[in-house]
Amino acid sequence: EDLTTEGNSFKGHDMLAPFTAGWQSNDLDPLVIEKSEGSYVYDINGKKYLDTLAGLWCTSLGGNEPRLVAAATEQLNKLPFYHSFWNRTTKPSLDLAKELLETFTASKMAKAFFTNSGSEANDTQVKLVWYYNNALGRPNKKKFIARAKSYHGSTLIAASLSGLPALHQKFDLPAPFVRHTDCPHYWRYHLPGETEEEFSTRLAINLENLILKEGPETIAAFIAEPVMGAGGVIPPPATYFDKIQAVVKKYDILFIADEVICAFGRLGTMYGSDKFNIKPDLVTVAKALSSGYLPIGAVMVSPEVSDVIDSQSSKLGSFSHGFTYSGHPVACAVAIETLKIYKERNILDQVNRIAPKFQDGVKAFSDSPIIGEIRGTGLILGTEFVDNKSPNDPFPPEWGVGAYFGAQCEKEGMLVRVAGDNIMMSPPFIMSPEEVDEVYFCVEEPRFIPSLPAFA
Ligand code: PLP
Repeated sequence: EDLTTEGNSFKGHDMLAPFTAGWQSNDLDPLVIEKSEGSYVYDINGKKYLDTLAGLWCTSLGGNEPRLVAAATEQLNKLPFYHSFWNRTTKPSLDLAKELLETFTASKMAKAFFTNSGSEANDTQVKLVWYYNNALGRPNKKKFIARAKSYHGSTLIAASLSGLPALHQKFDLPAPFVRHTDCPHYWRYHLPGETEEEFSTRLAINLENLILKEGPETIAAFIAEPVMGAGGVIPPPATYFDKIQAVVKKYDILFIADEVICAFGRLGTMYGSDKFNIKPDLVTVAKALSSGYLPIGAVMVSPEVSDVIDSQSSKLGSFSHGFTYSGHPVACAVAIETLKIYKERNILDQVNRIAPKFQDGVKAFSDSPIIGEIRGTGLILGTEFVDNKSPNDPFPPEWGVGAYFGAQCEKEGMLVRVAGDNIMMSPPFIMSPEEVDEVYFCVEEPRFIPSLPAFA
């Protein structure tokens, strides 16, 4: 195939665009998925694909878990909808809040608030934090610090928090109260001779300098994904979160853990916060909360934050925020069943059994001359194509190396996430060893090298 003419576009998909949900139209010859089964999905022509992205980092229990279908059906028959406003609610919403709070043990969480998505949940976090600071009589403590290359969602506020330029350009974003600090990607950004620990120290100093420059009294919260997902799968360097948390604490800044991808076992721990010893004040979840079967997200709030909000709310007026579908009973019923299955099937053991095979097997391709870095932990993995194995030598974008690789995988019957020359995977937690073998087969890149202009 002639990459120079195909460029970054395959079948009309702009594979370079990091985020494009796309207008729904048949004109672009989309890949139309019709059915799913375990770790596989099928298109309308019956072609089978190993779904290494679990839909969009979410179908943790695979494509056809009958218990989730039964939970949804039962709830639909009983009560398809009632809201959760004005101290009226439903049993599934109450029960899920209780179950969900018990899953988080890295720090204490007192209350949960449901949304339809991760983006709405992160928007909710911002309003909670502002409300909290207003309640404490410090209305100027309003700014948020997020990180370059983070992804926190696509609504106006969540896109503002995100550190991906494509989400800001041409949208007049980020909003003025958002600041971005360094992306903690050691391989790409460390100085010559700098160890991971030294790199983390430097980033913590940079964060502190940013806080001091802005004025600590103006900074409300810091938000971070334990492992950055959509920005390229970037696990934190050694000691990073210890050092960052020390700085944040020093200036009375709240820590929001965006666990939308990491929660419920993806990293081999219940939460990313468990893995990296993060003690957040607020937590965002979505995706695997319902194994992606129905849209639901949530925020969890520490007792300290919820106490302030509760005690002051009569003075400020109630926390006027909520969505028609907050705590939707059917979505909550599915989420309750999802959490039950995680527990009954020891999902963490399952992830930890399969993860080393998945990680080591794919990382065995690290020596390839066109691969700069393969990184990840648990069941999340990112692969970056570069020339000369150097982060400073990207392939010319017009070659579309990542898009080409993604298209080859699709041809071979495997779906991966492509963003520029980054390839990302986050397979279902239920993936079998045989399915992991299929991943190796597909990523056996030597078959692709002769087709790349660099090697032609
Ligand atoms: N936060 C993180 C870390 C995410 O990965 C995502 C989505 O991928 C979001 C927030 C936004 O979630 P949603 O797409 O459900 O709005």
